[in-house]
Amino acid sequence: MVKAVVGANWGDEGKGKITDMLAQEADIIVRFQGGANAGHTIINNYGKFALHTLPSGVFYSHTTSVIGNGVALDIPILFKEVKSIVDRGVPEPKILVSDRAQIVMSYHKQFDAYEEERLGGKSFGSTKSGIAPFYSDKYAKIGFQVSELFDDKLLEEKAVRIAAQKNVLLEHLYHKPLIKPEELYEELLGYKKMVEPFVCDTSLFLHNALKEGKNILLEGQLGSLKDPDHGIYPMVTSSSTLAAFGAIGAGIPPYEIQRIITVCKAYSSAVGAGAFVSEIFGEEADELRRRGGDGGEFGATTGRPRRMGWFDCVASRYGCRLQGATDVAFTVLDVLGYLKEIPVCTGYEIDGKVTEDFPPTHLLEKAKPILEILPGWECDIRGIRIYEELPENCRRYIEFIEEKISYPITMVSNGPGREDIIYRR
Ligand code: GDP
Repeated sequence: MVKAVVGANWGDEGKGKITDMLAQEADIIVRFQGGANAGHTIINNYGKFALHTLPSGVFYSHTTSVIGNGVALDIPILFKEVKSIVDRGVPEPKILVSDRAQIVMSYHKQFDAYEEERLGGKSFGSTKSGIAPFYSDKYAKIGFQVSELFDDKLLEEKAVRIAAQKNVLLEHLYHKPLIKPEELYEELLGYKKMVEPFVCDTSLFLHNALKEGKNILLEGQLGSLKDPDHGIYPMVTSSSTLAAFGAIGAGIPPYEIQRIITVCKAYSSAVGAGAFVSEIFGEEADELRRRGGDGGEFGATTGRPRRMGWFDCVASRYGCRLQGATDVAFTVLDVLGYLKEIPVCTGYEIDGKVTEDFPPTHLLEKAKPILEILPGWECDIRGIRIYEELPENCRRYIEFIEEKISYPITMVSNGPGREDIIYRR
C-alpha cells in the first residue's frame, strides 16, 4: 500500500508533521522530488528539527528512508543532515539512495547565485541551493547520475566535457572564475566515497517491498501551486510537486498510490515572489506571521519571513484537484484561535468577472479576492482530540472550507506535535 503526503498550496503546509505522524505505520518513506531548497519542521520526542533532504520518517528505527531517482541529491547536505540528527540522539537511520538519482554539483549552486545576481531586482528569490540549474542540466542531459560515479573512465572524460561547457558561461556571461576539470573530478570522487554504502536500485527495492505488502509513504516537497506545469509559473520550483510524479520520482507504478493525503493549511503563507491573491499586509499580517506555525512563519531553509494571507478556497480546491486528494489534512488550525472574525477567500474577481476556478499566472496577477467573513472561536483548541469537542464556530470553519474545496477533510491538526491530530470519519 502506498500513500503520498503532498501539499495543496505553496508549501509549508505542515507536510513534515503529517509524514512524521503517518510514518509510525510505514515501513519505507520515499522522497521523490525536489532537493535541499525547502525544509520541513518536525517536533517529536527527540526535539525540534528542520530537515531538507532526509525524509520526515528518519526518526523511527523501524523505517527505511529512500532518496528516490527524482530527487536533486546534494550529497554533502544529506550526510550533514544525518550527522546532525545522530548527534542529537536519534538512532542512525537506514538510508538508501537511488543509483538513478542525479547529483547537485557545487557549480549548480554557483550558477544559481550568479544568475540571481545577474537578474538583480528581477530575480526569482531562489534559495540558491542549485535546484533550477540542476534540473536544467538533468533535462539537457548533462547531469551526473549516481551510477556514473562508479565508472572512472566516464567520469574523467565527462568532467572535462562539462567544465568546457560551463566555462563558456562563466567567462562570457557571468565573468566568474572558471571550473578546473581535475577539481570537478575530485569533487565527484569525494561524493562517490560518501554515498557508495547507500546506493542501490531503489525502484527494484520498492517493487519487492510492494510484493511483500509493505507500507510505503511518499513525501512531497512544496505544494501544487509550485508545480512547474500546474502552478504559478514561472514562480514555481523545478520539479513536479504532484502526487502523480511520486510514481516517476520513486520508480513505482502509478496505480500503486492508493491514498493521497493532501495537506492544506488553515490560512495561507508563501515564500518568494509571485501572485498571492488572498495576501494580507501590515499589522494584520505581522500578527498572523508571529503566531503562525510553531514559533512564527519564517522559512525553514532561509529564515525569510513568509508572506501571509487568508485561506484561499479557489487555490486550495485547485491544489487538491491536481493532487487527486483522497484525504485532506487541515493543519495549523489552532493558530486562528485569536481572531474574532476570520476572512476566507471564496472567489476571484478578474476584469469585473467572478470565478472560482484558478487561472493561469497572467490572469492571477489581476485577480482580486472575494472574502467571506466567518465568526472566530476565540479560544485555544490545542489538546482537543475529538472532533465534536471543537467549538461550534471552529467546526463551522472546517465544514465551510470542506464544502468549498469539495474534498474530504479527514484529519485536523491542532498543534505541531505528533499527537496533535483529530481524525474525522
Ligand atoms: P512543510 O514544509 O509542509 O513540512 O511545513 P513546515 O515545516 O515548513 O511548516 C509547518 C510549521 O507548522 C512547522 O513549524 C510545524 O511544526 C508547524 N505545524 C504543523 N502542524 C501544526 C499545527 O497543527 N499547529 C501548529 N501550531 N503548528 C503546526
